[in-house]
Amino acid sequence: MGQLAIQGGPKSVTKTFPWPIYDETEVQAVANIVRSGQWGNPDCADEVARFEQAFAAYCGSKYAVSCVNGSVSLRLALIACGLRPGDEVIVPPYTFIATASVVLEINCVPVFVDIDPDTYNLDPARIEAAITEKTRAIIPVHFAGLACDMDAILTIAQRHNLRVIEDAAHAHGAEYKGRKLGSIGDAGSFSFQSSKNLTSGEGGIVITNDDALYEAMNSLRNVGRSPSGQWYDHFNPGCNYRITQLQAVLLSEQLKRLDEQTITRNENGLYLNGLLADIEGVTPLSRGEVAIRHCYHLYIFKYDKTKFGQLPKKDFVAMLSAEGVPCSGGYPHPLYKQPVFQQKNFMCYAIPDSVDYTQVNCPEAERACADEAVWVFQHAMLGTREDMESFARAIRKIQLYTRASARV
Ligand SMILES: *Cc1c(COP(=O)(O)O)cnc(C)c1O
Repeated sequence: MGQLAIQGGPKSVTKTFPWPIYDETEVQAVANIVRSGQWGNPDCADEVARFEQAFAAYCGSKYAVSCVNGSVSLRLALIACGLRPGDEVIVPPYTFIATASVVLEINCVPVFVDIDPDTYNLDPARIEAAITEKTRAIIPVHFAGLACDMDAILTIAQRHNLRVIEDAAHAHGAEYKGRKLGSIGDAGSFSFQSSKNLTSGEGGIVITNDDALYEAMNSLRNVGRSPSGQWYDHFNPGCNYRITQLQAVLLSEQLKRLDEQTITRNENGLYLNGLLADIEGVTPLSRGEVAIRHCYHLYIFKYDKTKFGQLPKKDFVAMLSAEGVPCSGGYPHPLYKQPVFQQKNFMCYAIPDSVDYTQVNCPEAERACADEAVWVFQHAMLGTREDMESFARAIRKIQLYTRASARV
């Protein structure tokens, strides 16, 4: 069995997994921009426009609007969709805070709908019960890079005349029935923050096929300017949310690597699913019913402590981490449990008094956070099959240890 690494024994995984991945191509591209002196945008935005066109084409969308991060990109889409103060937006509770906080930022009300326990994505079967006459939009999050059930979500959205803004911050290059995630709803938002599968340190982008949404988002991210107006003509209430040429060239180079990386993660995920199937008490999330390409921003499995001598999840994760598997237990609580919602610390944002997040309870998200979800990070999924085998070995080692110590 061997001593656990957390107790000073040898690690199961000795390799480290670099991220981001780059070579001289990226260094040269950035150096060229530095030397050109053309760092900014929009006065010298060739590289920004080039990247936007490349990303839109990659996703099979008509337009892409880059911006400072993947929170602002979501917000641009919400504003462009014409949401009004007090409107309700359906969001999952098992996601990064930005999915819900951007709704607050435009004085709208996030309405939390629980996740499907098999996929951890927004559960379409629970959406309609949450729809009121104030509901205007749904933000499905393709959590971990796994496609939401978009057919079901779009059907509900059409029936109730709702906009669908995909939060694809985890889902660059992932697919649903052969279509790129982000390109299926009214708009799709991506983040290029350091941890994401396509990164320039910070950054974001929103894609759409809708001419009106594009025009609005393009203006909003550029201090309300219009391509037809002068420099100091401001038609809309936007801010300066532009990215630099330095980010754009970095992203253009990184985009060339994305497909190969996505295929590697997807294959490793399938392989690891097979390996974990043989270990009691760890269950990979379902990949859904239809053809997908998962990009494994996170590889998630469900942990069952009863098969690990009642070892709490947080201790299991600490042991797995010490064994050298890049992992975490994920979010400690569903979003509505955050102080901002529980205490209604909404500052200048005007959410109706009737809204009370202390009454919200999404049991599936609660269970995922507290007891079940273990995340392996995307850069580790870029390893080899042998690396996947070493992750499975690390889990078995912990299981053997917990079973042995449960007997004494
Ligand atoms: C990272 C992330 C965002 C926000 O992106 P930033 O670039 O950090 O602003 C939004 N939604 C989800 C699900 C994310 O993981």
